[in-house]
Amino acid sequence: MQNQKVVLATQNKDKLKELQHLMKGSKIEVLSLTDFKKSSAVHEDGKTFEENAEKKARVYSKRTRSLVLADDSGLCVRPLGGKPGVYSARYAGPKCSYEDNNIKLLGQLRLIPWPKRRATFVSVISIFDQGRKIATVRGECDGRIGFIEKGDFGFGYDPIFIPEGMSKTYAELNSAQKGKISHRGRALRAAKKALLKYLNNRPEHVG
Ligand code: IMP
Repeated sequence: MQNQKVVLATQNKDKLKELQHLMKGSKIEVLSLTDFKKSSAVHEDGKTFEENAEKKARVYSKRTRSLVLADDSGLCVRPLGGKPGVYSARYAGPKCSYEDNNIKLLGQLRLIPWPKRRATFVSVISIFDQGRKIATVRGECDGRIGFIEKGDFGFGYDPIFIPEGMSKTYAELNSAQKGKISHRGRALRAAKKALLKYLNNRPEHVG
């Protein structure tokens, strides 16, 4: 396989670092949208993580005429019927902080006992090449919502999410520990597999 450039459709430096780390040692170089001319953001108006990830990957792969990976992620809380789900980023309002979201969620769950505080983190990654769908993969991590915020690592809902079988929150794990079990770590590993399969089987590489 020749060296190959892949664009990650995000402005988020942490997501970019995670993918670059995972691709180390392969012939895949990961670029971000900041390497391209600035263009308008894609409106994430889908009802599912898949719809949003695929829309972003399709639009940016056409705009950049490249192979693009896009992800959409969020937290689905069972006693809230799956909320905040695709609305995880702005759950507490249009310009809310991560802290505002955590306070809102903890407040909504204040009367829910431990066994019923089940939640699943979801990450969906879609891969498109110049407007053509290559693959869409999903990674999940089951767990529970704690009663208070704990830990200083990570971002978003990390301080209140306790993965199944653990006593620590995501925010008490370092990035390598989190990556091994996290929704995004799982989705990224599946995406890497799908990407390598595609690149190795493209007509110009067969034979
Ligand atoms: P998006 O995929 O960038 O739209 O992110 C959606 C939102 O889900 C983020 O703003 C966070 O609030 C939340 N989220 C996604 N992944 C994680 C994670 O690994 N830890 C904590 N929060 C997350």
